[in-house]
Amino acid sequence: MVIKFKDFKYERPDLEKFEATVDELLGEFDASETVDDQVAVIDKLNVEFDHLDTMATLASIRSSIDTRDKFYDEERTFFDENEPSFTEIQNRYRKAITESKFRSELEERFGAQLFALSDNALKSFDPSVKSLLQKENKLSTQYDKLLASAEIDFDGKKLNLSEFAPYTQNPDRQVRKDAALAVNGFMGEHLEEIDDIYDQLVKTRHEIATTLGYKDFIELGYIRMNRIDYDRTMVEKFRKQVEEYVVPIVTELKERQRQRIGLDSLKSYDSNFEFLTGNATPKGKTKDIMNNGAEMYKALSPETDEFYTFMTDRDLFDVEAKKGKEGGGYCTMIADYKAPFIFSNFNGTQGDVEVLTHEAGHAFQTYMSRNITVPEYSFPTLESAEIHSMSMEFFTYPWMELFFKEDTDKFKFSHMADSISFLPYGVAVDEFQHVVYENPELTPAERRQEWKKIEAKYLPSTDYDSIEPLESGAFWHKQGHIFGAPFYYIDYTLAQVCALQFWKRAKEDFEDAWKDYLALCKVGGSLPFNSLVELANLKSPFEEGSLESVIDEVHSYLNSIDDKKL
Ligand SMILES: [Zn+2]
Repeated sequence: MVIKFKDFKYERPDLEKFEATVDELLGEFDASETVDDQVAVIDKLNVEFDHLDTMATLASIRSSIDTRDKFYDEERTFFDENEPSFTEIQNRYRKAITESKFRSELEERFGAQLFALSDNALKSFDPSVKSLLQKENKLSTQYDKLLASAEIDFDGKKLNLSEFAPYTQNPDRQVRKDAALAVNGFMGEHLEEIDDIYDQLVKTRHEIATTLGYKDFIELGYIRMNRIDYDRTMVEKFRKQVEEYVVPIVTELKERQRQRIGLDSLKSYDSNFEFLTGNATPKGKTKDIMNNGAEMYKALSPETDEFYTFMTDRDLFDVEAKKGKEGGGYCTMIADYKAPFIFSNFNGTQGDVEVLTHEAGHAFQTYMSRNITVPEYSFPTLESAEIHSMSMEFFTYPWMELFFKEDTDKFKFSHMADSISFLPYGVAVDEFQHVVYENPELTPAERRQEWKKIEAKYLPSTDYDSIEPLESGAFWHKQGHIFGAPFYYIDYTLAQVCALQFWKRAKEDFEDAWKDYLALCKVGGSLPFNSLVELANLKSPFEEGSLESVIDEVHSYLNSIDDKKL
């Protein structure tokens, strides 16, 4: 029998009971005299961890679908507040396996990645920072709630921030400008509040890092992000490559856009308006988009067909924008049901289709690797996870006609242009965070000055047309990752360079590229980034020249299209 999402059972876990069960099993673990006995205990512990994770995930999903739901709001708060306690208990398990007398046999059985991840978890936590971690969680929830609370009067309606997306693409320039003024009016009203939340976050994180014995939060941030087989020097070199090879092409693309839409100068509120005849939009309603998704995944492969049917049969998509719903989109995994879940806010733009390719790419990977019993492997580390999603955006190119009809070429041109235009912004966000955490004593105003400098380097053609608070360096106030997930951003750029390689390979030999993509999905998160990239027969973005070769291909593809005709 198929159990639907609404019937997935939620029950608040009992912290004391959880702790007692884990401790009892760890006692058995220590007393085990053979590696097989230890493996059996690990399997039992994983069932407990999966269940806890399932409850936390259900609370979080249901509360994000309706932030006004008091019950799930309290449940989410319960997990926010107790996360450090749960982490502390799970760390006893991590400590036990990393110190096991059978460690090398266990590594052989479960893979070295589990042990690398466990080492990192242990290095990023100590009971002495528990209350600071609770504070960090609260601050980042406070930021999410503040942005979700936006109800801005515009066009005769009260809109949340996601609902502004269609207006940023409106052919009437005045509408675009007014929409930017309305959104930034809200951001400006909350400028000090957001600056203050961030200031507290930076100082709290710095204190956590130094309490744990690190020089600064950057060291700890890399450990938290599980950057296992690369470091900040390699990341810095990657940013340099983006500055050198990508920034000039993006500047050129902006100039093409300016000419295409016939303006004297391109302002920031024009950047989402890409064609005089309007941007590519999906044709039909939500139901049509979902049905086209079914047809596309049926044609793509037997595996994707099975996956999409699994998702729709169980109502594992919540895609429409509603009042009280959190902004953005995500994919998560509900462990006990081996069920991926996709959340988004459809708004009539091409982003709606990207939910069915990008988020579904994440979901497809977790579905393909769902039988790996190590919970730590259900998602790879984040830069690797984005390879699955971003590559799916390219693998599904042949079916874009289903969604876009006459707008298909327009969609592809704009998707590809956006894919590389994103790179400089992505590395700017990364560099900004390095500056912030290297200098935790900066004032909010100084941080905004630093953002402006970085913007000038990576996004030289940006013109805010004097709109505040953008002009004062507050663009990043809308970038949730900077608040909730420090250093999580470069990941998208690293993955994009990998996804573009799949695009290039799929043009040459679709079957061969798809075969490697499937293999990559199946191993889930059992390997670190560079090893996964190698397994998929891709070049590491850190490798000299890897960026240049793929960017050249994209550049000539974009040059081959007469965009003025679109
Ligand atoms: Zn993603």
